[in-house]
Amino acid sequence: MKLLFMGPPGAGKGSQAAKVVEHFKIPSISTGEMFRNSYQRGEELGIEAMRFIENGNLVSDEITNKIVKERLSREDIECCFLLDGYPRTVQQAEALDIMLKDMGTKLSAVVNIVASNDVLFERMENRRVCRKCGTTYHLIYKPSSKLNVCDKCDGELYQRLDDTHDSVKRRLEIYESKTKPLLDYYQKKGILHNVNGMQSFDEVFKDVLKVIGE
Ligand code: AMP
Repeated sequence: MKLLFMGPPGAGKGSQAAKVVEHFKIPSISTGEMFRNSYQRGEELGIEAMRFIENGNLVSDEITNKIVKERLSREDIECCFLLDGYPRTVQQAEALDIMLKDMGTKLSAVVNIVASNDVLFERMENRRVCRKCGTTYHLIYKPSSKLNVCDKCDGELYQRLDDTHDSVKRRLEIYESKTKPLLDYYQKKGILHNVNGMQSFDEVFKDVLKVIGE
């Protein structure tokens, strides 16, 4: 099982990916999370990546491919993995194809979570994330019991720098121009599956399981 989760920012790809990872106990490779963790550890790579991220831009292909290549070289991903948020450009997809070919493997399915722009704005501007465990909340639909405190670990909840209105607008524009062309790329390979992301979390998850053949 070698999966790739795609979708515009805010479509719920991260939450669905986390659920699939938990369900099948497979390793997750999330470039966004790797960048945020690296930044929090004060590493040079994370600090450089955050300069792109906080303006709503994509991190350069060079930095991103490097961090993924390093992650794919670890043994735990030999049988299975789930890529979340990578690749995001055609250049990254081509680089990934080469990395996987060198490993003697390929992607088994690409899951694309679809949602309209109105829904995406509404979700991202109200999203809050736990600084400690990464659990996500929504101010209206999934609020924490105590304001700004995580229900799971008591960590502080914060708004990601790239979830503000202007950043979201920019991220959606970039998604349209740089990432959307990838859908064609995977459609042609015959491994693309679209899932309606504008349903309840559980309904989306059911559809995800269907398309990955479980
Ligand atoms: P995510 O958590 O997937 O929404 O990613 C958060 C941010 O990290 C994105 O808005 C980008 O700035 C950056 N990022 C994550 N993955 C990539 C990627 N594959 N290529 C370039 N930038 C990325």
